[in-house]
Amino acid sequence: MATIDGLPPLRAVIAAHGLTARKALGQNFLLDLNLTAKIARSAGDLRGTDVLEVGPGPGGLTRGLLAEGARRVVAVEKDARCLPALAEVAAACPGRLEVLHADALELDWAAHLTPPIKVVANLPYNVGTELLVRWLTPQSWPPVWASLTLMFQREVAERIVAAPGGKAYGRLAVLAQWRCDARIVMSLPPEAFTPAPKVRSAVVHLDALPQPRFEADPKVLQRVVAAGFNQRRKMLRAALKGLAPDIEARIVAAGLKPTDRAEQVPIEGFCALARQIAAG
Ligand code: SAM
Repeated sequence: MATIDGLPPLRAVIAAHGLTARKALGQNFLLDLNLTAKIARSAGDLRGTDVLEVGPGPGGLTRGLLAEGARRVVAVEKDARCLPALAEVAAACPGRLEVLHADALELDWAAHLTPPIKVVANLPYNVGTELLVRWLTPQSWPPVWASLTLMFQREVAERIVAAPGGKAYGRLAVLAQWRCDARIVMSLPPEAFTPAPKVRSAVVHLDALPQPRFEADPKVLQRVVAAGFNQRRKMLRAALKGLAPDIEARIVAAGLKPTDRAEQVPIEGFCALARQIAAG
């Protein structure tokens, strides 16, 4: 019987199935199985866990996830050319890998997995942020997933984990850190990928908190944060002016200064402001 260890090297898989990388699909493959195993391990203990993987490509990270003991991996791939290669991985681990030929942006993926669920992916850069925002804004909290372990361009990873006071701090940081612990767990040079992208990459690990760090209505908070950072050079009193006629008084009631700029406001401050605005 085939085993994961008995599968051919990824370069041979790519050659055998003609998987020349397509830029439009964000295809930068990881061919070093030691590296994909390390990424899989950075998601924590996978035993007894279902894993959602977006964009398995030739299956390097998929192999790592299975080797690390994931109960099941559901891998969503848009490129039909990758399916025969992934079928070989599935055959080596009977019953543990389900490959869905679909666009991850269109799919109701939760229907295919059983909690506990972890999401692990070397994401296509062109859809990575969109998927992250969707995972961070479910109907209710805690979400169906326990953690996200995701590859991003280094610059995007830095925006996710940024602290107040710098240029990287913005909507993504507030959205991610309001309800998750987020940290960069790996940094990768362009040469780690085939073909090499122009920029460095990083893996971010986010653990969902059982409840948000500070109380706030998610929709109101998102409106406040969007307004604040859409005009990040402006002071709060100007940037948020459209949110309430007496915005300056509400900013003060939230314990902030009307002359502050959004990038100086900690998550707790945005939540206080959202509560003031929701108070009607
Ligand atoms: N996981 C593989 C690896 O680490 O080598 C491939 C990573 S590559 C950066 C991104 C993968 O996502 C490609 O296989 C690409 O075909 C796939 N992809 C791109 N857009 C997608 C989408 N909307 N839904 C699902 N897969 C997508």
